[in-house]
Amino acid sequence: MAEKITSQQAIELEERYGAHNYHPLPVVLSKGEGAKVWDAEGKEYFDFLSAYSAVNQGHCHPKIIGALKEQAETLTLTSRAFFNDALGPYEKYVTEFFGYDKVLPMNSGAEADETAIKLCRKWAYEKKGVPENKAKIIVAENNFHGRTVTIISMSSDPDSYKGYGPYTPGFVTVPYNDTEALAKELEDPNVAGFLVEPIQGEAGVMVPDDGYLKKAYELCKAKNVLFIADEVQTGIARTGKLLACDHEDVRPDVLILGKAISGGVYPISAVLADDDIMLTIKPGEHGSTFGGNPVAARVATAALEVVREEKLADRAEYLGKIFREEMKKIDHEMIDLVRGKGLLNAIVIKPKNGFEAWDVCVKMAEFGVLAKPTHGDIIRFAPPLIISEEDLREAISRIKKAIMSF
Ligand code: PLP
Repeated sequence: MAEKITSQQAIELEERYGAHNYHPLPVVLSKGEGAKVWDAEGKEYFDFLSAYSAVNQGHCHPKIIGALKEQAETLTLTSRAFFNDALGPYEKYVTEFFGYDKVLPMNSGAEADETAIKLCRKWAYEKKGVPENKAKIIVAENNFHGRTVTIISMSSDPDSYKGYGPYTPGFVTVPYNDTEALAKELEDPNVAGFLVEPIQGEAGVMVPDDGYLKKAYELCKAKNVLFIADEVQTGIARTGKLLACDHEDVRPDVLILGKAISGGVYPISAVLADDDIMLTIKPGEHGSTFGGNPVAARVATAALEVVREEKLADRAEYLGKIFREEMKKIDHEMIDLVRGKGLLNAIVIKPKNGFEAWDVCVKMAEFGVLAKPTHGDIIRFAPPLIISEEDLREAISRIKKAIMSF
């Protein structure tokens, strides 16, 4: 057992020995169960971030932890130099679950995005006939796909890209939610793919107009361009459907998943596509030591089973409506806007007397609800999807009290 330390000690250690690449709220968590977490002194909170939507199934879900423990005591890692007896059954399960021919397992969301970019380029050269090194991928303004050099090369957020050049070429940016701009860029025959988040999570839960994804998909199809959906944050029941693309009956050519595919217990990500795309990558051309390891395979299978067994998409749809309805009822000048889908929601905060979204989050934490501001003025609300209606309503009343205190 690790030695117990106080919140103050934990913060001091992180400050002293950890890189300063994050700016957390001053809350030190030491335990989680379901929709709740506890700090080092035992104070209880509702988790309204869910590790950026990784913990959709709730903290320490017994079924997922059971799978983790059982496999961890049997076989953890073989690398892909050999077969293992957990990967094949998982690959069958996950491909049938989402309806694709093949899966390519990775670890982080960023790695899965990188994989999708490589896959798209490879397909362009081998299948579409784009001249070598000329492939372009269209991306959306204000996207967030992770932190690698290639991914920040697609970013329009200076916090992400500034100071880290030179950048990877081959990307074209269009405004989000703008099919006219997309259509224009698609005229270039060297365009291989369009990479998009069905709702932009990190940008502040930007929900596009109804019909945007469908129209964008059709435009891509007309030009033989791959429609690549990054559902790392929106996927796996968060927005009230299994995938956010399901709201518009769009089936991406390439589907990128991460976060909740493990229920937040292990870094697992995946890229799904059909054979004509996926088989363009040949043995030795791409991989990862940990990708597809036996623990990941068992954990991801259990995490997806929980999503289905506990009907988490329906829960997210039902509870999300309650959340938005109740938030819209709050009569306070700091609430500028409430938006979202399912249990992926945000409020835009108008500063008052120098108090901003950060101060609202600190106040909510005092009242026992954890959320984190993004871009200075937006607070995202994304509790685990297993949260009970009673707990959701209790959390909403605490959020109201926190806001009304300003
Ligand atoms: N893609 C999207 C849409 C995300 O929201 C994130 C993380 O927030 C990522 C990719 C990157 O995932 P990871 O942090 O696991 O690399």
